[in-house]
Amino acid sequence: MGGVKGVKGRIAVVGAGGVAAAATAKIAKHGGAFKEMYITSRRLGKCEELRESILARGTDVKVEAAALDAEDVGSLTAVLGAIEPELVLNLALPYHDLNVMEACLRIGANYVDTANYEPVDDARFEYGWQWAYAGRFKEAGLTALLGCGFDPGVTGVFCAHALKHHYDAIHTVDILDANGGDHGHPFATNFNPEINIREVTAKGKYWEDGNWVETEPMAIRRSYDFEGIGVRDMYLLYHEELESLAKNIPGLRRIRFFMTFGESYLTHLRCLQNVGMTSIVPIEYEGAEIVPLKFLKAVLPDPASLGPRTTGKTNIGCVMRGVKDGRMKDYRIYNVCDHRECYLEVGTQAISYTTGVPAMIGSMLLMTGVWGGAGVYNVEDLDPDPFMEALGAYGLPWKERFDPEPVG
Ligand code: NDP
Repeated sequence: MGGVKGVKGRIAVVGAGGVAAAATAKIAKHGGAFKEMYITSRRLGKCEELRESILARGTDVKVEAAALDAEDVGSLTAVLGAIEPELVLNLALPYHDLNVMEACLRIGANYVDTANYEPVDDARFEYGWQWAYAGRFKEAGLTALLGCGFDPGVTGVFCAHALKHHYDAIHTVDILDANGGDHGHPFATNFNPEINIREVTAKGKYWEDGNWVETEPMAIRRSYDFEGIGVRDMYLLYHEELESLAKNIPGLRRIRFFMTFGESYLTHLRCLQNVGMTSIVPIEYEGAEIVPLKFLKAVLPDPASLGPRTTGKTNIGCVMRGVKDGRMKDYRIYNVCDHRECYLEVGTQAISYTTGVPAMIGSMLLMTGVWGGAGVYNVEDLDPDPFMEALGAYGLPWKERFDPEPVG
């Protein structure tokens, strides 16, 4: 087995946004696995802000801050190389994944992220780019763990758990992501606006009988009753874990992903799309080149600022159908998370929390050698049991039902 030996317990986190705020707060409270944490990002001030808030809450972990540019492999290699972490937790943007993986190989560190690589000038994500690193990580005796947030992340672990404990074969999976939070803004996104809007304006796609079926954006709508939230409309989107789960769940016949959106969000988004503000094609404006979506991000509320004003809950999980002992079996597994409670605990809303906590858990399992193996892995490749146990212990308890409402 490869993976981390856990000698120093030193982790470097890349990125100092909302997800990093939740993950670093949790790392700071679990000094058993982590002894030293380096928070690194583009702006030193943001890293220092996070460091200060962690120290103010109290921790046994040594916390340091450093600036780096994740667009530049040289900068990543120099800064991370000087830190000598056993593990790099990449919580910057999906555009940076390959650079951070490359830097990890150069300095001999293990790697964890929460989002699939996506080229900055092409709103298209697929695991192929990162899976292509498998040989190099294997040869170096290092682990890269991909997509260890909630979705992707926990949803993949839920599937592995279901396969291990509840099914002989899973035939269908629907991943349902509901956010019943209210932040009081007419339009804001709960995580990085640029990444969020690229995701929801893309064509929908799901996998059925061995083929990908493409739909127009938001063309398929269903209604579902979510515990803690109530009945909500949800829309079919393409989401990255569909690619790895379609490959990794043997005998799977169909897998889809749905996310809830409120009327105000959809109306604003439609309007912004109609006037060209969600485009990633650069335009010239007063002699300078700007990307409309990047400009839009600059005027929208910073997701990190939503923490103190968001109330309500998230409910994210899966509905499955499959066979156990020759009989059809229906199964639902999910987590309900409260925005306000997350804010009181770590200073972020639930979207950052539900991503940052699994990122910490995946890092902890690698750091302590419970998870390991040289190569590139998705979460469902590894034993779900220790992860499922840690979810409950670290703030994301899950519930199971055996009579779920079908999605239709
Ligand atoms: P934020 O935009 O809040 O944070 C991103 C951080 O990366 C910021 O600190 C930003 O710095 C930093 N950064 C940006 N560019 C660079 C650069 N060139 N060099 C160094 N640092 C840089 O995003 P979130 O925290 O909301 O999201 C973080 C990641 O988590 C994203 O990849 C997102 O897709 C993923 N995610 C995954 C989810 C899941 O369930 N799997 C759910 C939600 C998010 P600055 O502030 O200076 O711009």
